[in-house]
This record gives sequence, C-alpha cells and structure tokens, in this order.
Amino acid sequence: MPSNAPQEAAAMPHTAPLVCRNFHDNAWHDSTGEPIERRNPANGELAAVAPRATAEETARAVASARDAFPEWKRAVPAERSRLLHELAAACATRSEDLATAITREQGKPLDEARGETAKFVTALHYYAEEAVRVYGRTVPNDTPGFLSIVEREPLGPVAGIVPWNYPVELIGWKLGGATAAGCTIVVKPSEYTPGCAQVLSECVAATLPPGVVNFVYGEGGTGAALAGHPDIAKVAFTGSLRTGEALFRTVSGITGLSLELGGSCPMVVTDTADVAAAVAGATRRSFRNAGQICIAVNRVYVQRGVYEAFTAGLAEAADALTVADGLAVPDADVGALTMDETYRRTLDHIEDAVARGAEVVAGGGPVDGLAPGLFLRPTVLARAPADALVMHDETFGPLVGVAPFDDLDDAIERANGAPGGLAAYAYTQDTRETFALARGLDFGNVAVNNVDAGIMNAPYGGRRESGFGSEHGPEGLASYLQYKHVRLRHGAQ
Ligand code: NAD
Repeated sequence: MPSNAPQEAAAMPHTAPLVCRNFHDNAWHDSTGEPIERRNPANGELAAVAPRATAEETARAVASARDAFPEWKRAVPAERSRLLHELAAACATRSEDLATAITREQGKPLDEARGETAKFVTALHYYAEEAVRVYGRTVPNDTPGFLSIVEREPLGPVAGIVPWNYPVELIGWKLGGATAAGCTIVVKPSEYTPGCAQVLSECVAATLPPGVVNFVYGEGGTGAALAGHPDIAKVAFTGSLRTGEALFRTVSGITGLSLELGGSCPMVVTDTADVAAAVAGATRRSFRNAGQICIAVNRVYVQRGVYEAFTAGLAEAADALTVADGLAVPDADVGALTMDETYRRTLDHIEDAVARGAEVVAGGGPVDGLAPGLFLRPTVLARAPADALVMHDETFGPLVGVAPFDDLDDAIERANGAPGGLAAYAYTQDTRETFALARGLDFGNVAVNNVDAGIMNAPYGGRRESGFGSEHGPEGLASYLQYKHVRLRHGAQ
C-alpha cells in the first residue's frame, strides 16, 4: 500500500528499529520481498528492518524516475538549485536522526557519524551551487552563415548503488551530482545500512517533486535488477571490485557506468619528513572509521633514517586510541566493525603477516570486555614483508603494515605495485621529493603532508582496479551530462 505518511519509527527514540519501505513517487510502498533485519554490530540489537525489493518493485521505482525526468530536466537550473538547497536544509534538521542511524547500523562513533552527516549536507549545498554553472559553448564554422552550439543535457534516470561504510555521504555524492545535472535517480542503499536511507527519504518527500529521488532496498539481486533495467541511463556505483566487475555484465546495452572501487592505499614517509605529522596522518587515515574507508592507508613505506621513530610513534598513537560502542561513547576513536566478514579478514591478515615475519607492535586482536560486538584494537605491523596480504590486499579493517625502504624510486615502485589506484599519501619536506612523489604515484588522488585526499570541489576518482569516473567538483556533475551539438544555419554574414 502506498502511503505518504513519514514512518513512525523514524521519529521515535532510537531504541526502536527503523522501518524502511521502498520509496518512489514521493510515497512509501510495501514490498512482498522477505525483510532484511539489520543488527547493531556493537551489541546485536535490531537496528533496522528493510525490504528486499523484487525486480517488479524495483521497476516501479525506475518508472517513477523515468516519468519525473522530462519535467526535472526542463526545470531551470536555478529552480533545481533552490530545491536542492531545501533538501540540504531539511537533512540538516534531521542530522541527529541520520547520525544515530549511521552509528546503530554501521558502528562508527556518533561524533564521527555527525561529521559524515555534516559533510553530506555540505555536498548537497555544493551541488546546488554547481547546478547553475553548467555552460555550453559556441563553435565558429568554416562556412559563412553557420554557427554550432554545444549544449550539455542530463543523461536520464540514474541508478545510484552504494556501500555501507559512508552510507549517507556516498548517497549524497550521487544524489547531489545527478539531480543538480537534471537527472532523476533511484538509490539502492547497502543492505547493511538501510535505516539512514529511510530518514533521507523523509527529507526528500518534504522537499522535492515526486519521482526525482527514489529508494529501493535489498541486496545484490535488487542492485542487479536496478542496474540492468533498460530505462536506466547510467549506473553510478561505489563498492567492491567484485561487484564492479559484475556490473559490467549486468548493465544493459549502452548504459553509462562509473565505478568507485576499493584498493590498497600506500603512504610514503621520507627521511626529510616531519615525523610527528606523518604519525598523526597515518593514525588518522589508517584507523578512522575502523579502517573501513576506501582511501584508508593500508601500508606505509618509511625511509630507513626515520623508520624506527615513525613505527614507534605510530604504535604509541594506535595504542592510545579508544575503542568503544559508538552510541555509548560518542567521542570514541574507533567503534564496532560493521560486519563479521571484516572482523575475520582483519584477524586473518594479522595472522598471515606474523607468519611471514612481521611483528605486531600495537593492538593485534579483540578488545577485552567488549564482546559480543565486532571490536578490534587498532593494529600496527612492523617490518611487514611485501608478500603479506596487508601489503597488497585491501583489509578494510583497523590494520596497517609498515616496511622500511632505502631508495625513493624503489618506494614509489612498491607503492604503485599493488592492485588499485585510488589514493596515495606522502610525507616529505624536500621539494624534489615532493614532485617525484606527486608525479610518480600512479593514483587518482595524491595527498602530500596531509591525509585528506578528497575535497568537495576537486575531482575524486580512482585508476586501474579502483575504477573510473569522477565524483566531486564540476567533474562530478559533468558525469551526469551529455553533449548535444546543434548546427545552426542562420544565414547572417
Ligand atoms: P559491495 O560491492 O559488496 O556492495 C556495494 C553495493 O552493491 C551494495 O549496495 C550491494 O548491495 C550492491 N551489490 C552487491 N552485488 C551487486 C550486484 N551484483 N549488482 C548490483 N549491485 C550489487 O561493497 P561493500 O562491501 O558494500 O563496500 C566495500 C567496498 O566499497 C570496499 O572495497 C571499498 O573500498 C569500496 N568503497 C569505495 C569507495 C570509493 O570512493 N572508491 C568508497 C567507499 C567504499
């Protein structure tokens, strides 16, 4: 049954599970699919219940996006901008609900979830601003009396398929870019974090015209049905390499595709580096969100002269991090891991590295007294050999490997030597080294003397196994546009 009433559960105190329903035509709809139960990884409590949208239900959401597209495309950019600002404002008023939903489903500490929500709102405002800056151009012809006009038009209804690690922010990048460009969108949140999307749907219902933004819930099958629907003009995907590769086989015909995938991100620290700054950077980028970030530092190559100081500093900083239930201790540094698979993989990567000769210098396993939640101590492995999994496979958990190097060219080669090309980091105070690293590191994002590789107004995207396409910046919006060449014979000389 369609209904326009916001979900009661969403407005209730956060002891009750969030109840999610597929959302299209600005109304919520029941599903015949078997429900998904999402439990809080910190304590096992039921956090959200969501449908598994069937292919038919998914098609209804696509029809909603398709039907809304002509009018949304025709809306003047200033109007789209105004409405997106309104959506951002509505989300800001629900920011505590969003943050709480994130922590309950995903596990990151509440303060960190509040930060994610604030960045999501900023992304919507950013794209609202960019909506009015889409320009074409005129091209002189070599025949008198002709002029070519190059216009940029929205692609059509878009599918946004997102993972669980930044469940709100990553929706914002796709939703903001697509709708600012004049596309409509169907979002498929991760099955691990449906509840925050339900809160977002309530903000959408209050601000946007029907059909511009739609949500369907479910697992891979729902994502595949959405991506393979013939009315979808583009699939914007963030997630694993495995699913990214599957999407190549799923998208029908000539559907557009952008893939933001994972990878193994390196950091290089040279003898000239400010070691304290490098330690602070590595601590933040290895363990924020318990390491469940596509741009997390997985492996650090440290020049011999500062290797001992850096490794000891990182171990000390990792040991000082607080690990706790992120709702009970909002300012904890590290919360629960989102899923059992990550918990086990992190332990496997530690065991593998130790078997190959690495030394655990911080952390190394579960946190006493926090069972049965998925809590692990931030772990640092010293002298991690090149063949250890942590040095070439994405752990996606609170683990980092450190290895010494002597020659910078060798370090750059090792940094480039693992699958993926999303982000790399470097600490150096030497100008030649700075440029050697900035140019030599074969990654879509390189941060030197800082670890925040992505900012809202510069393009963000990966290379090689980390995918293709850009989000953020004017490029993020342009990825939802196509060119049209209009050749005019006007006759004037
Ligand atoms: P995942 O690929 O398992 O799932 C991502 C989404 O795809 C989910 O919504 C899932 O339901 C859906 N899905 C699964 N199978 C599908 C299929 N066959 N067809 C269509 N959709 C399908 O990834 P995950 O475990 O949720 O996320 C972790 C991965 O995401 C990591 O590898 C991480 O590095 C990557 N990631 C990348 C970025 C980036 O910006 N590059 C950002 C965040 C996460």
